[in-house]
Amino acid sequence: MTGPIRHLVIVGGGTAGWLAALMLGKTARDHRHDLKITVVESSSIPTIGVGEGTTAVFKTVLDHLGVAEADFLRETRGTIKYGIRHRDWRKVGVTYDGPIDDPHVLVKGADGSEFLNVFSVAAGRPVSRLHLFGFLMKGDLSPYGRDGAGKLIPVGPFQYAYHIDNAAVGRFLRAHAKGVDVVDALVAGTVRGPETGAIESLRFDNGETLAGDFFIDCTGFRRQLIGKEMEGGWISYAEELPVNRAMPFWLDHDPAKDIPTCTLAWARNAGWVWQIPTQDRLGCGYVYSDRFLSSDEARAEIEEALGHPIEPRADIRMSVGRVARPWVKNCLALGLSAGFLEPLEATSIHGTVVQLLVFAEDYMKPPFMPADAAADAYNQRIGRQIDDFRTFINTHYVTERDDTPFWRHVRDNCIHPETRGRLAAWRDHMPKGADFDRYLSGFPHVEAQLYYPVLDGLGLLDRAVAKRETAASPALRKQAREIADSLGRQFAQAAGRAIGHREYLTSL
Ligand SMILES: Cc1cc2nc3c(=O)[nH]c(=O)nc-3n(C[C@H](O)[C@H](O)[C@H](O)COP(=O)(O)OP(=O)(O)OC[C@H]3O[C@@H](n4cnc5c(N)ncnc54)[C@H](O)[C@@H]3O)c2cc1C
Repeated sequence: MTGPIRHLVIVGGGTAGWLAALMLGKTARDHRHDLKITVVESSSIPTIGVGEGTTAVFKTVLDHLGVAEADFLRETRGTIKYGIRHRDWRKVGVTYDGPIDDPHVLVKGADGSEFLNVFSVAAGRPVSRLHLFGFLMKGDLSPYGRDGAGKLIPVGPFQYAYHIDNAAVGRFLRAHAKGVDVVDALVAGTVRGPETGAIESLRFDNGETLAGDFFIDCTGFRRQLIGKEMEGGWISYAEELPVNRAMPFWLDHDPAKDIPTCTLAWARNAGWVWQIPTQDRLGCGYVYSDRFLSSDEARAEIEEALGHPIEPRADIRMSVGRVARPWVKNCLALGLSAGFLEPLEATSIHGTVVQLLVFAEDYMKPPFMPADAAADAYNQRIGRQIDDFRTFINTHYVTERDDTPFWRHVRDNCIHPETRGRLAAWRDHMPKGADFDRYLSGFPHVEAQLYYPVLDGLGLLDRAVAKRETAASPALRKQAREIADSLGRQFAQAAGRAIGHREYLTSL
């Protein structure tokens, strides 16, 4: 770049675009940098909006906005999410939970050690039992109890995630983005510097132009700038993540039951069904492979499983993979325009938030003039981040299922070498912090703690290896047993104090 970024132009007014406007606007303000931000969105192209799950990192966004969680949940009709319930993945009839809290943070000096998980596996106990969120999830409980005066008090120290209605969150973010110019226009092309190749201005379909210094492509699956203009390239994950269609539909809540506090991921004949509760409904969808199922068959399968008709809201085609170089010259792709994996572990909005945090922290610094080398480093790190998501999701497909052509295809053709490599290493030692490089400046990423419930639930952890490791340190094994027993008691008591999920949400 030849000068500091003074005008940041974001193309796309979905969740990614507004997150970028808010978070980078804050970065500029924090550095007292005078930055004009324009969001260009087209009212003729809708945003993607299905019921969606976040990860715990979304609280960082609320903190950025200075928004109280109660206001966010009330205004967006969001709910609490403690993790994911995986049904029928290992084999039909087997369910396991993946709570997202990490009990090791309560143990002084644990420092990346997974000794409580190792102990659980050695003792033949499900690792999910070591989690407060496992208790709260089972009871559909809120994370709050009441003190003597009726005031809400948290029952535990862990940060949970949310289930959201993406359209409502988009409106919410937009309302909080003060001082941002908004242009309703369709970007049809760019004017590029003849020597630099950098974008000088956007060309709209009505012939008008808009100049800027740095451009963020948040145009979703269209990838208007990074794909069509800047040749960011594409790395497909279609071989190892074979689902490529999504058929969203809604269901009503069962008024006799509390609102669930987990995402349900229900493995089906040719993919899996998500169920994500907002306050008003269950946002659901069948993500499937059209190589094995037509959309009529997908619909029929779900209607038969549920025992009643559904009204599909769309049948979305998904290109699964990532842009090879999300940052090219003065253009950065974020959100769906940077890539997309099936929504199994809610990696998309999480990835966007972490990418924004990394970009803001490491590259948007005074004098706000990132060098070309910065783009290379960023691309390498973010490419790795999304590859790690791929491997984590791919691991969910290492199952005993072989009851349909889809599952036999997955077993025979879709397990990525990196997944195989990790599993081979974990037949030798139990997963541990050192198995995961930390290259995202400490921002949250897929690590051992997230893998444990999934590996355990799929039967991929070897109890003999865990026993060998615990036997090597009797003192640690004794400590682990005491801590696990004590945490189990504490968590059961904490869950006993928690009020119901619906009661909490309606009290906001
Ligand atoms: C089936 C499905 C399920 C998902 N589930 C989850 C989940 O559980 N958890 C999760 O974290 N994520 C999930 N996601 C991903 C999540 O929806 C996205 O990460 C998030 O909504 C951000 O989308 P976006 O802003 O990148 O794109 P979009 O919402 O598609 O917004 C694109 C914007 O670009 C604008 N635009 C496009 N082209 C142009 C143009 N030429 N000119 C001007 N404007 C243009 C549009 O008007 C729109 O404003 C899911 C996605 C799908 C498809």
